[in-house]
Amino acid sequence: MSNRLAKLHSQLAAKGLDAIIISQDENRRYLSGFTGSAGFLLISPQRAILATDFRYVEQAQAQAPDFEVVKIQGEMPKWFPRLASELDAQKLGFEGKDISFSTYKELTDALSSAKKGISLVPTDGLVESLRAVKDKEELKLIEKAAALADAALDEILPQVRPGISEKELAWEIESFMRRNSSEPVPFELIVASGPNSALPHARPTDKIIHNGEPVVIDIGAKVGGYTSDITRTICLGNSDNVFNRIYDIVLGAQLTALATLQTGMTGEQVDRLARTVIEQAGYKDNFGHGLGHGVGLATHEEPRLGTGSADILAEGMAFTIEPGIYISGWGGVRIEDMAVLEEGKVRLLTKSRKMWRP
Ligand code: ZN
Ligand code: ZN
Repeated sequence: MSNRLAKLHSQLAAKGLDAIIISQDENRRYLSGFTGSAGFLLISPQRAILATDFRYVEQAQAQAPDFEVVKIQGEMPKWFPRLASELDAQKLGFEGKDISFSTYKELTDALSSAKKGISLVPTDGLVESLRAVKDKEELKLIEKAAALADAALDEILPQVRPGISEKELAWEIESFMRRNSSEPVPFELIVASGPNSALPHARPTDKIIHNGEPVVIDIGAKVGGYTSDITRTICLGNSDNVFNRIYDIVLGAQLTALATLQTGMTGEQVDRLARTVIEQAGYKDNFGHGLGHGVGLATHEEPRLGTGSADILAEGMAFTIEPGIYISGWGGVRIEDMAVLEEGKVRLLTKSRKMWRP
């Protein structure tokens, strides 16, 4: 944790800030180790304060030894001016995407009536950009979460027979992961069959899975707060030429991106590696989402791999590569793996079999 704080200190200096208040859940956990669902970090080069209410004080002291734990009570404007003035900061950063406009107004009013000469400065993505690069401890947890999702797919998919519903299959996978020590799954698992699989974010329904139709299965486990995210597309019974063709294009797009992406490329450039394959096969309009996203304490975090993304891929970043083709009325194929950049190259974190035939 002290490494992470040191990195934040240099970010503060670079932005001309004397201190920052962290309110976003994953950022609070990332910097302090505190897993409780309520609390604020106030961080300056000299001080690291974790402010939380009576429910969490003991837990905070145990989990965040690098922080002074302060008990707070009531709404933020009540306690904030006093704590902020303890930091001896003039320019105090806050997370612009996490503090609502009305809270911001209340805080500035409280600060100006307290006459401490403190001004609030919005920041954007300061801690998020630190989180994009994973350290060893984080990678270990991500690898465990990935292995758990792999194990669920490798165990459950070979047993799937036509006649099971999407919801039942989703539950089989989820309960396998929970029985094998996953924390509550990080997102509602997707099992989408036939025409339902044309919706990239379909929710499992009571629809029965039949032979010969695409089934998109997008799942993730959680270990120590870190998530995994993997998608496989299968077809029970014999697949037809349409499925085989679409599958091969998507797989080709994914393998191309994995084989050619490099440290230093932008998210847009990496996206283009796969998108070109899909476009040249004639499915330009059927790949309507980005190629991938960072994965860590949140399922979707930096970097973003997609059109318009200037995020630069760096050593230690962990992210997904998930091209797809979706055809309304027929269905879809998506293949998603997680990878980490090491020594300029990609190392796959998810390893479950890509093509499953009965
Ligand atoms: Zn996914
Ligand atoms: Zn994903």
